[in-house]
Amino acid sequence: MVTPNGILSEYGTTIFSVMSALAVEHGAINLGQGFPDQDGPEDLRRLAAEAIIAGPNQYPLMPGVAELRQAVAAHNRRFYGLEVDWQTEVMVASGATEVLAGAFLGLLDPGDEVVMIEPLYDSYLPMVRRAGGVPRLVRLAPPHWTLPRDELAAAFSPRTKMLLLNSPHNPAGKVFDADDLAFLADLVVRHDAVAVCDEVYEHLVFDGRAHRPLMTFPGMRGRCVRIGSAGKTFSMTGWKVGYATGAPDLIAALCKAHQFTTFTTVPALQLAVAAGLGKEDAYFDTLAAEQQAKRDRLAASLARAGFDVLPTAGTYFLTAGFRPLGFDGDDVAFCRHMTIDAGVTAMPVSAFFQGGAVRDYVRFCFCKRDQVLDAAGERLERFFKG
Ligand code: PMP
Ligand code: GLN
Repeated sequence: MVTPNGILSEYGTTIFSVMSALAVEHGAINLGQGFPDQDGPEDLRRLAAEAIIAGPNQYPLMPGVAELRQAVAAHNRRFYGLEVDWQTEVMVASGATEVLAGAFLGLLDPGDEVVMIEPLYDSYLPMVRRAGGVPRLVRLAPPHWTLPRDELAAAFSPRTKMLLLNSPHNPAGKVFDADDLAFLADLVVRHDAVAVCDEVYEHLVFDGRAHRPLMTFPGMRGRCVRIGSAGKTFSMTGWKVGYATGAPDLIAALCKAHQFTTFTTVPALQLAVAAGLGKEDAYFDTLAAEQQAKRDRLAASLARAGFDVLPTAGTYFLTAGFRPLGFDGDDVAFCRHMTIDAGVTAMPVSAFFQGGAVRDYVRFCFCKRDQVLDAAGERLERFFKG
């Protein structure tokens, strides 16, 4: 008998696959797993298709094609005023998921502590642990998702190697403000740590807010790995093109992991994403404005159905409390019930907490066509309001 790895075998099939399969099985509208129901810009898809035909189709450069690394550097300058050397400070990999794994594998030694903020995106905990890291969890709690500063400061120790920060935050929809970021930056500097910043939703911030990378804070330029994803920024989650920006020593460490995991990422997709990052401001403004309108549309119908809808400042997710509907099981049971009996699927928020703490909220994904959001809203109103 082969014994599987002890850490990964503690985890079941990812909740994203589980809920999508349940939605298909019951013909439910799937507002669970986060993906848009319309593909991103056609010009980028054409560019990718043409590049598949014309080439290149062989191994590109290990850290990414020059065009995309240059585009990532230019994007950092344009949106955040960051000066980045594309040759030593950018790495491309197969999705933010691979960049994250590369950061853990490339930077952590067994026993290094990693300060992580719950709720957690699903790959963080298993991959940090698999890389030998020791998680130190600090919890944000609904409905306000406030950063507990004392607990956070207490979580840092002389063994802290890394802070893992996701902003805009999935699933909380929280965009950490300048005060929180300055507080976090100070802790990272004082403990001589590195910050891995998952900023895949950088272009999905609402209500006139601006996304501010932790990397722009004092002392942080050399201590951050800033992560973006074409899947989110160009609404093509299946492309799996992610990019990291960081000081040369950090990027070199990530490349050590990348070269032994995937080594490279589909060159045609990289070229199309390079063109995408150079799109005019209107593209990025429209992306956020459209999603903001969808957020409001879904929030209104969820409120009409009786949910306790929490505010969302960024990402394409809304969290909502279901206790006002009178259901007394947990969130997993509620999501099954809603899928099977009301025909709408959402994600149980407990899946984002170690040990499933916090069981009263579900997460809805709103990057869907308006008629799909409306149909979901009608089903929920009809089912819960009669
Ligand atoms: N981080 C967060 C917070 C996410 O929501 C996602 C979405 N899948 C990812 C990372 C992974 O991004 P990618 O699809 O580029 O691997
Ligand atoms: N990021 C997406 C979400 O949070 C899905 C990612 C996945 O399916 N692995 O729903």
